[in-house]
Amino acid sequence: MAGVVFDHVTKQFGNVTAVNDLTLEVRDREFLVLVGPSGCGKSTALRLIAGLEDVTSGDLYIGDRRVNDVPPKDRDIAMVFQSYALYPHMSVYDNMAFGLKLRKTPKAEIDRRVKEAARMLGIQHLLDRKPKALSGGQRQRVALGRAIVREPQVFLMDEPLSNLDAKLRVQTRAEISKLHQRVQTTTIYVTHDQTEAMTMGDRIAVLRDGVLQQIDTPEVLYDRPANMFVAGFIGSPAMNFFDVRVSMEGDRVFLNHDAFTVEVPARMKDAVGRYNNREIVLGIRPENIEVYPEAPSEDTANIKVDVVEPLGNETILHLLAGDELFVARVHPDMHFQPGQTVAVKFDTNKIHVFDKETEQSLL
Ligand code: ATP
Repeated sequence: MAGVVFDHVTKQFGNVTAVNDLTLEVRDREFLVLVGPSGCGKSTALRLIAGLEDVTSGDLYIGDRRVNDVPPKDRDIAMVFQSYALYPHMSVYDNMAFGLKLRKTPKAEIDRRVKEAARMLGIQHLLDRKPKALSGGQRQRVALGRAIVREPQVFLMDEPLSNLDAKLRVQTRAEISKLHQRVQTTTIYVTHDQTEAMTMGDRIAVLRDGVLQQIDTPEVLYDRPANMFVAGFIGSPAMNFFDVRVSMEGDRVFLNHDAFTVEVPARMKDAVGRYNNREIVLGIRPENIEVYPEAPSEDTANIKVDVVEPLGNETILHLLAGDELFVARVHPDMHFQPGQTVAVKFDTNKIHVFDKETEQSLL
């Protein structure tokens, strides 16, 4: 097995820079998720590893080997696509065996590997079928099986779940995680879905416009996002942002908005105090806002309910701070009406603060 290293890798298509000076190390056996919005360059990064695109500048390594000039078939990787790309005229067994046959693997060895992979994926009973006689979820498992039998150094997966319905997506997501725990092959997984990223990744790399924004564990990305882009991308519903003005009274530091004032906790005082009398951006996640159906008191803000979305296990409230909309997540047993005035309290230990110009975290 092997890790993968991008060392100042850039990929240009004409005047579009799809991947911009990317330096990133995927560790041996790691499950790394590359995530970001459409067009951020994640598929291109994956295709560079596969050798389906050439690097414009920089160095790319799989294990200790620089692979810039190594043809795809010699890179010892296996790729799983969103379109399963199965051969329609071949049985499931032959689809899975095909790559090994091309490599002149002995028949008995092929048989052993195909059956082992089929057992792992629970598709032993489908080996004689043709792809058209399979459900979407089953086809995706065959595509995974075809990758597994190759026993490659690295798995590359490009949005492999996006053609599945919601329920199957959750199920297959768990299966891929389980599979990785068993075979432990280094896996690089591309998605635009932050839930997939959070649930599957040992670490997550967030890309924007071809530029790496942050790479870390799901917990760190959620708790300590490096900038507003990562803060807004990780977590659902997304983090709320407010422009606020910093003020100080003695050694206390406050963030002032027309609709509320928040006192900054001790651990942030120094960083925020430097912005005294200036504007910064306050970030707060919907789950870190408490809402009470009563009149506001001194330490709560005066806020109006705009929309109520009961989801069963939780209720999403769209609230108005003046004319600014924001979102809170509350217990489903709490009942609110649109138009109602409520008291709102931010969990000040969970607030985030960002520079308004650079959008970088102040911490
Ligand atoms: P999506 O989730 O929509 O697939 P992505 O994050 O995977 O997006 P890429 O497909 O890597 O993004 O594309 C990154 C940028 O490079 C985009 O601006 C895209 O238009 C451009 N691009 C990708 N492939 C090519 C190509 N073959 N020729 C020209 N431009 C390309």
